[in-house]
Amino acid sequence: ARNDHNEQAGSQLRISFEFFPPKSEEMEGQLWATVDELSRWNPDFVSVTYGAGGTTRAPTLSTVRRLISETTLPTASHLTCVGATKDEVRHVVDEFRAVGVRHFVALRGDPQGGMGTAYQPHPGGFANAAELVAGLREMGDFEISVSAYPEKHPESRDDAADIDMLKRKVDAGAHRALTQFFFDNDIFERYLERVRAAGITIPIVPGIMPIQNLTQLKRFASMCGSSVPSFLDDRFSGLEDQPQARAEVAAEVAAEQIEDLVRRGIGDFHLYTMNRTPLVNATLANVGLKPSVQAVAGAAA
Ligand code: FAD
Repeated sequence: ARNDHNEQAGSQLRISFEFFPPKSEEMEGQLWATVDELSRWNPDFVSVTYGAGGTTRAPTLSTVRRLISETTLPTASHLTCVGATKDEVRHVVDEFRAVGVRHFVALRGDPQGGMGTAYQPHPGGFANAAELVAGLREMGDFEISVSAYPEKHPESRDDAADIDMLKRKVDAGAHRALTQFFFDNDIFERYLERVRAAGITIPIVPGIMPIQNLTQLKRFASMCGSSVPSFLDDRFSGLEDQPQARAEVAAEVAAEQIEDLVRRGIGDFHLYTMNRTPLVNATLANVGLKPSVQAVAGAAA
């Protein structure tokens, strides 16, 4: 079976948007303008990433608080277990619950020394995302999303170990997985077959990354374990000094990826917005999605 239970066509696609908490006043303005403009696509939910180290929960908390109080967008908060005891994580969960969060994207998080260094679970903390999911389930009736890695997580020994961790997260109570970004749909389809063969039945929602800048993307992708197929070099070649043409190609590439996945039976998509509007708008317009006339959010700063 594939993602049959969420298979839908054309304008029936279900989408979610990922944002990150702004780090400056200027970025704050950009985020809220983006939220306001993208809300017309009626996302199923939006999510806000959670910084590393546990100490940076404040920007995530204030961002989700504002999303919940000033918009009607269903809002999920990412949450990690990096550098925190179980009690500290539970305290954070209570804070988020108090502002109205009912949906968490539960993650282990990256090592505090940055990607590439070894992950050290906090001695009194949740050791991985599966334990965090179980901890959340003990605390309440939350909706829980988790990560999935079509090209395996860089730390995973092999594909089997990677899917085993996904299985543990599902057994602990996860409702949906959002994938790391990828550009080769054949890789995703083979991954989905292995996931289904492992008895995992929750929706596996492809993470779509519109390409703002191919050079920067390659650097980031190599750290995440995502491959960047050579057809992308061809598509962007010669456009280094032409931002407008590059944006058009990026929106075409992302739309083609979504359309091809739809043909393969996928109906849900998680878009990495990078807190920017134009590429996401152009991509969804290319796909033929119809925005609602009236924005559902009144979030403009
Ligand atoms: P897990 O699911 O616990 O593990 C991922 C894989 O790594 C597993 O398959 C497992 O095989 C392997 N693994 C885990 N621990 C070990 C170990 N000790 N030894 C060997 N293998 C191991 N990061 C943030 O900081 N904030 C965010 O908001 C955030 N949002 C994300 C959203 C999505 C959709 C995705 C895909 C990733 C996100 N990340 C975020 C990145 C994520 O925190 C990192 O990829 C992190 O390294 C792993 O977290 P996880 O929850 O995927 O880990």
